[in-house]
Amino acid sequence: MVGAWVIVGLLVSVAYPFLRDGTPVAAVFYNSFTVATLGAIVAGVRRNRPVQRVGWYVFAGAVGLRLCGDVTYEIYRQVLHLSPFPSLADAFYLGAFPLLVAGTLLVARGRLGRDWAGILDAAIISGGLSLVWWVFVIAPMAADASSPLLQRVIGAAYPALDLLLIALVAQLVIRSGRLTVSLGLLTVGMVALLVSDVLFQFMPTFAPEFEGVVAVGWLISNTMWGAAALDRSSRAPAPQPELQARGTTATLGRTRLALLAACTLLVPAVLFVQGLMIGPGKLNWLAIGVGAVVLFLLVLARTAGFVAQVQRQAGQLEELALCDALTGLPNRRVFEERLAGSVAAGNAQVAILDLDGFKDVNDRLGHAVGDRLLAVVAKRLAGALREDDLVARMGGDEFAVLLGAGSPGAMTGIVERLAAALRKPVEAGGHELLIGASIGSADGAGTRDAGEVLRRADIAMYAAKAAGGGRHRGYSDDLDARAGEQAKLGAEIRAALDLGQFRVVYQPIVSLPDGRIVSVEALVRWEHPERGLISPAEFIPVAEQNGLIVELGAWILRTACSQAVVWRNEFGEAGPQRMSVNVSARQLAEPGFTALVAEVLAWTGLAAHQLIVEVTETAVFGGGLAVQAVKDLHELGVKIALDDFGTGHSSLGLLQTVPVDILKVDKSFVDTITMAGRHAVIATALIQVSSGLGLMAVAEGVETAEQAAELYRLGYRLAQGYHFGRPVAEPDFLGTRVAVG
Ligand code: C2E
Ligand code: CA
Ligand code: CA
Repeated sequence: MVGAWVIVGLLVSVAYPFLRDGTPVAAVFYNSFTVATLGAIVAGVRRNRPVQRVGWYVFAGAVGLRLCGDVTYEIYRQVLHLSPFPSLADAFYLGAFPLLVAGTLLVARGRLGRDWAGILDAAIISGGLSLVWWVFVIAPMAADASSPLLQRVIGAAYPALDLLLIALVAQLVIRSGRLTVSLGLLTVGMVALLVSDVLFQFMPTFAPEFEGVVAVGWLISNTMWGAAALDRSSRAPAPQPELQARGTTATLGRTRLALLAACTLLVPAVLFVQGLMIGPGKLNWLAIGVGAVVLFLLVLARTAGFVAQVQRQAGQLEELALCDALTGLPNRRVFEERLAGSVAAGNAQVAILDLDGFKDVNDRLGHAVGDRLLAVVAKRLAGALREDDLVARMGGDEFAVLLGAGSPGAMTGIVERLAAALRKPVEAGGHELLIGASIGSADGAGTRDAGEVLRRADIAMYAAKAAGGGRHRGYSDDLDARAGEQAKLGAEIRAALDLGQFRVVYQPIVSLPDGRIVSVEALVRWEHPERGLISPAEFIPVAEQNGLIVELGAWILRTACSQAVVWRNEFGEAGPQRMSVNVSARQLAEPGFTALVAEVLAWTGLAAHQLIVEVTETAVFGGGLAVQAVKDLHELGVKIALDDFGTGHSSLGLLQTVPVDILKVDKSFVDTITMAGRHAVIATALIQVSSGLGLMAVAEGVETAEQAAELYRLGYRLAQGYHFGRPVAEPDFLGTRVAVG
């Protein structure tokens, strides 16, 4: 429809000059098309129901007034054979200008919003052009003493009003962001109108025989305006300046700069040309002077705006560089700068806070939830601090706090507040997450180095984490020594693996009361060439921290399972029926752990139900990958034992979410069992829980016959401890048994 209208309109425009201007046929042809244009605009508004409907009707009013002017003009010329100037026709024509401007402004309202750079650019361009127009067209016309005043005023009014249109078109074209198709057509129509208006000023003087050609521009402008209303894009409001903020006016593009420079240079150009044409004595000095001042001020304003904008952007850049994007907290750079100040002033107090189990949340629930969690934590930490404290995100799930000056010794209180702030569960991605944190703190005692203070807080934080997480440690010198030792030990474990310095020993688990060995627990030993036997309690935590437990654990699993098969073949019924292997959280969280177990079982030929995997409550309490691994193992047929039961979280809920077959009741409950008083209460409760849930209970660390007898009396049927046998390379499966009397 729009296409058809444009084609018809262009054909009409091209055909018009072939009709003889001033004949009735030409007049009817010309004015019919204006009527059709009016129809097109009204039809377009009806069809597209644009937001700026009023604007379009005002615009149609302008076209209507021009039509009235044309018709009046033709009546004077063809019917009355008069050509008065000024006449009623001029009133219509001139009246159409304000409506054109108002209509355009309304239709393009969004586009002409508060984009000051664009407004100034357009003003500079139209200012330069206006000067030329004024000096060469309007001023001579107004000054032509040969015609009466009214004629002069009306005659000059046309080019003057055209100036208004130039300013408007400059606004439409120069403003940032793309024009909609409809606004583009409107602008093209306006340009066509302007071109014809300008030609009309000169035609009678220079080429009167081509007067018909001038009308082509007006016909084209009608075509474009009709098309602008008909096009569907008229429906949408003009793009808002906010959306165009990153458009072209914000920056001073090369083309724009050249355009602005050219328009400013029009002042000396006019001076020069006029000087050449009419001689230096008759220069229109007033117009040129005013034009120069106005343009100068406009350019000045534009430059000021540009400078302000550059400054604003520089500010934003700086903010970006200093601010962590995810949490909005200051970043490491800011923190280190402030810390350097505090260290120099001798009042640095720093805490480093690292979330426990954050990696697990990320792995299990995805990064979006992890990010959300970090954002909430950041907010809570910031909320828990005082006005002059600083909290920053150092990267990952690590935050740092710098206490404000003038609060010496406030660290414990602050740490307590930070921990309290994290105790409430965090809502993230539809999950209720309970997140703990390990906190390490240090002050600047005895150092002038900010990096050293951070390092100390870091070491204290790692010590807090190694101690099980969810706690606070202050820095002390012995932490340093231990950290050094741990680093050394970590490197040695690597070497020990390659050199084959690890052994596995086996401790019997016996049935009560007969003392028969039903299974064994594999326990690792390190035969260090210089230091002798090193306890797993010493090196397993280190191997867990540096990840070597994964490789070491796989080796232990393989060794223990093949040993079980050896004994099964050697002793049959008389040998241990099951092999218990300790597995740490880090191993469980390793993707493919279940696959590894399945592979080892297949490789050794041990049946899945003959393997027991011992996990601690803490390892599976956080849920996540560890729990999934335990479930997969159970699915495989492997038995699951909950180690050190009663010392960790001891949540009975855990027994519902994690498939458990065996509870290993911790030694601490066994130790006190024979004492008088209420000491047996927990051991009693635990055996009741396990029998109630259909689980087997193993009493750990049984050292005396009395303990064994009391445990049996309470209902325990499985036990382990030095009383029955120490962990050794080859337990005596056939020897005499210690039975409970
Ligand atoms: P656990 O799993 O609770 O192992 C039982 C620990 O108690 C063993 O210490 C064992 O020698 C000791 N024990 C057994 N009966 C008695 C007793 O009657 N009295 C006393 N005082 N102690 C007794 P061990 O072998 O030093 O192991 C310590 C911990 O190291 C283990 O605690 C386990 O958590 C870890 N661990 C040992 N071997 C491995 C392993 O192969 N892999 C993993 N991931 N952890 C291991
Ligand atoms: Ca164990
Ligand atoms: Ca244990």
